[in-house]
Amino acid sequence: MFKKIILCLIMFSTLFLCGCGAKKENSDQLSEIKKRGELIVGVKYDSKPFGYIENGKLQGYDIDIAHLLAKRILGNENLVRFVEVTPSNRISKLNSGEVDMLVATMTVTPSRQEVVDFSVPYFYAGQAVMIRRGTSIKTIGDLNGRRVVIVLGTTGETSLRYFAPEVILQGYRSYKEAFAGMLNNRAEAMSADDAILAGFVMDHPEFMILPQRYTQEGYGVAFRKDAAAASLRYEVNNAIGELRKKGHLNYLKSLWLPQSSDNFKK
Ligand code: GLU
Repeated sequence: MFKKIILCLIMFSTLFLCGCGAKKENSDQLSEIKKRGELIVGVKYDSKPFGYIENGKLQGYDIDIAHLLAKRILGNENLVRFVEVTPSNRISKLNSGEVDMLVATMTVTPSRQEVVDFSVPYFYAGQAVMIRRGTSIKTIGDLNGRRVVIVLGTTGETSLRYFAPEVILQGYRSYKEAFAGMLNNRAEAMSADDAILAGFVMDHPEFMILPQRYTQEGYGVAFRKDAAAASLRYEVNNAIGELRKKGHLNYLKSLWLPQSSDNFKK
């Protein structure tokens, strides 16, 4: 009888341990995505040419990257669902679990690295200033004392406060609203990533980007700061390395930023 009880205890604890093992495996985000059969990616909807809607179609450099990651992870580039994010809400949408990752023109910065993890950079941008053609503004220093549009929570906001401390900032939540401020002459300049300003200039040649760049910033894919995301980040880093090596990142750059590719050499 005693032996039977011991045997039952051993069987019970083996089953219990196996159960724990399975649970641990489930907490791996990469396995969860594979089981779900769909990658959920937070992207911008108003940042041409990275993530934007034209003729009813969501498209851009970041959208292509997300499709390529779905192909790598799930074997099919169409197994991806997009969720709109903005600079103000993207980290909360990631950390609440609404999206698996962000591919959202997001610069890797030390303060953001405290709350999310990043992949290796897949694109390099720099802060720049956009003005209406014919205006007397020549450098970022000329922005002191003038009204300048930025999008709240972006590196454009931080950099402008640093480089032109006397600037009169006009902050907006989205690029669409910020650019409307320029169109309506509510400000004399807009400060943002050159790669994003390039999208506005493509459609509105009455504006131009000043030649100076006052930062260099790598865009990274963002993940939850969680051990469960480690293998997903590893897979994405490998994918980005391969895309760079095979020339796909350069191809995407020439596809989405054909006029300005000289500014985005790296
Ligand atoms: N790359 C900049 C940033 O991460 C601006 C673009 C954006 O916010 O989406 O702050």
